[in-house]
Amino acid sequence: MTRGRRSAIPEWQAARLVAAHDETATARTLVFDIPGWPGHLAGQHVDVRVTAPDGYTASREYSIASGEVDAPPPDLPAMPDSGVNVELSVEELDDGEVSPYLVRGLEVGDHLEVRGPVGGYFVWQPSQTEPVQLIAGGSGVVPLMSMLRTHAAAGHPSPMRLLYSVRGPQFAFYAEELQRIAAASGGAVTVDYVYTRTAPAGADRSVGRLTLEELSTLALPASASPTTYLCGPNSFVESVSQWLLALGHPAECIFTERFGGA
Ligand SMILES: Cc1cc2nc3c(=O)[nH]c(=O)nc-3n(C[C@H](O)[C@H](O)[C@H](O)COP(=O)(O)OP(=O)(O)OC[C@H]3O[C@@H](n4cnc5c(N)ncnc54)[C@H](O)[C@@H]3O)c2cc1C
Repeated sequence: MTRGRRSAIPEWQAARLVAAHDETATARTLVFDIPGWPGHLAGQHVDVRVTAPDGYTASREYSIASGEVDAPPPDLPAMPDSGVNVELSVEELDDGEVSPYLVRGLEVGDHLEVRGPVGGYFVWQPSQTEPVQLIAGGSGVVPLMSMLRTHAAAGHPSPMRLLYSVRGPQFAFYAEELQRIAAASGGAVTVDYVYTRTAPAGADRSVGRLTLEELSTLALPASASPTTYLCGPNSFVESVSQWLLALGHPAECIFTERFGGA
């Protein structure tokens, strides 16, 4: 399979927060204006750098949640105001250094620095016609949302299924939009949730972590020859990728992105 464009890592540039909203009680979606943004593919990420008043800096990686944005034609100079907004969604880690600031400290109008887009491996492009299985653990849904938004914007007919493991419904990112995308897709897009700690009233599954047996019924089978994109905390990605291999999915059809953690 041909993977996406991989450019040299660009320079740090200023990004201005132009909008923000709570995604859940512990996560926030941030919309940045980044002048001269060169466009990005669904699944890519940016490096974000914040600087304290004493000059101390810290950088972290954050996936782009917004759908694919075309690169400007090569003969056009970068515009000072791209008019393109780049959306990130950040989950706050209690003991984290950067995420609490992004979720609770950054205000609309503030600037920070970004570098990107980064990554040409974990990407989905509308030219792909095979069925796609997306599997998210927690905030690992962010780059997969970019793929779903790109799929929806293209009116793409191929199946794209999301299996989303999350602590409870109140922690699920993009819940209403996911419902809308699935409803408008004519059956191409489906969304299944696995709740690990709290389930909605009347749920037919008791809470608990995803298992190999559930994966075998909720995800597209190897016989459908899907490409699978798997993203989340290290331990989640490790377990699920092993299960996918055990279920007969070829390693070259499994793309993983690890967000860190245990
Ligand atoms: C390619 C890539 C894309 C990412 N995209 C996103 C995204 O879209 N949204 C998002 O919220 N995060 C994303 N992350 C994670 C993000 O880069 C940071 O690691 C995270 O925000 C924690 O940073 P922090 O400074 O708050 O915590 P730190 O101060 O770095 O760490 C605090 C503690 O939390 C642990 N920890 C670090 N990261 C995680 C994690 N992801 N899960 C659980 N424990 C962790 C550390 O081991 C440490 O014990 C992404 C990571 C990568 C590599």
